[in-house]
Amino acid sequence: MDKIQIFDTTLRDGEQVPGCKLNMAQKLKVAKALDDLGVDVIEAGFPISSPGDFAAVQAISKQTKNAVVCGLSRSVEKDIDSAAQALQYASRPRIHTGIGTSETHIKYKFDSTQDAILERAVAAVKYAKQYVEDVEFYAEDAGRTDNEYLARVCQAVVAAGATVLNIPDTTGYCLPHEYGEKIKYLYENVEGIDKAILSTHCHNDLGLATANAIAGIENGARQIECTINGIGERAGNTALEEVVMIIKHRLKGVYATDVNTQMLNEMSRFVSDSMCMPVQPNKAIVGDNAFAHSSGIHQDGVIKNRENYEIIDPREVGINQSSIILTARSGRAALAYRAKEVGFDLFKDQLDIAYGEFINLADKQKEVNNDDLNVMLSKLFSVSV
Ligand code: MN
Repeated sequence: MDKIQIFDTTLRDGEQVPGCKLNMAQKLKVAKALDDLGVDVIEAGFPISSPGDFAAVQAISKQTKNAVVCGLSRSVEKDIDSAAQALQYASRPRIHTGIGTSETHIKYKFDSTQDAILERAVAAVKYAKQYVEDVEFYAEDAGRTDNEYLARVCQAVVAAGATVLNIPDTTGYCLPHEYGEKIKYLYENVEGIDKAILSTHCHNDLGLATANAIAGIENGARQIECTINGIGERAGNTALEEVVMIIKHRLKGVYATDVNTQMLNEMSRFVSDSMCMPVQPNKAIVGDNAFAHSSGIHQDGVIKNRENYEIIDPREVGINQSSIILTARSGRAALAYRAKEVGFDLFKDQLDIAYGEFINLADKQKEVNNDDLNVMLSKLFSVSV
């Protein structure tokens, strides 16, 4: 079984989202929670970008017990100096450096040439290697970079000592089969690839970040860069909770991660609250409705056997139980189930009476909660003793 490294970038790619900014105390708490969750790498920030981020990377380096702590830099010496300094107290430091490799980036960002960019990439990796053993190289906009040139860059930086090759689909452009083929091409054509691991870093502009990361894994990548709740630039990144549960359920026996899945729900809420970034109710794995059933047919099926309509036991991600939501689409099975929860074990004729009342109430309001149910059932059936 192959271990997939989980590289969390909630504090770097996620934190750069407008409105998501965290103060130092919050960053330390998130980093501690990530370390407890079992991620392999915490990308703690971009040290040259601000004194606050530098200080945060430094403090996270001192605090983190298990995970590798990583700092971002451009292929610029002062960036790498700053990252190395910020990481100096980390027990397992990693410098993440790189440069844009797509035609667009080379032409419009750098006004440069493929050969000159390759030289800068190699120089940056060699420079970072003076400070730390573990150097990750990112080929920005690799998603739109020609595979042959990308392989040349990868081969050169591996020869210069890069330990991880990050192949970002920076703009969220690739289709899953294209991204998978890219990883496969590198895996098969980069000389010395056995000395490094390939990493996915996918953006969600077309809603494909998770699918692309999984395609990467199935074609030879061994690290996934992701964030809690999929937060990140624009439409966000690959969601950590999604790839972890896909690996656990659908790629079982082939790949595994060290993430403690029972902490996922709590972690999602913690990051959402700290970063003031609500999670959509229908979000996979951690959304409010991910384990909620509201139509009569589904409710009846779930009450008979959860597996009729659920592929994951909610307890595996830290949710106590599936929820049966009472709406005008609910049937008798759901009403009986929820009535029992509030203390009314109804006989069949009682259920018929209660159902008539319930459906009138449910037509008037969106959802019938426990208080409504209690009032309704007490009026109908309570006897004074
Ligand atoms: Mn990114």
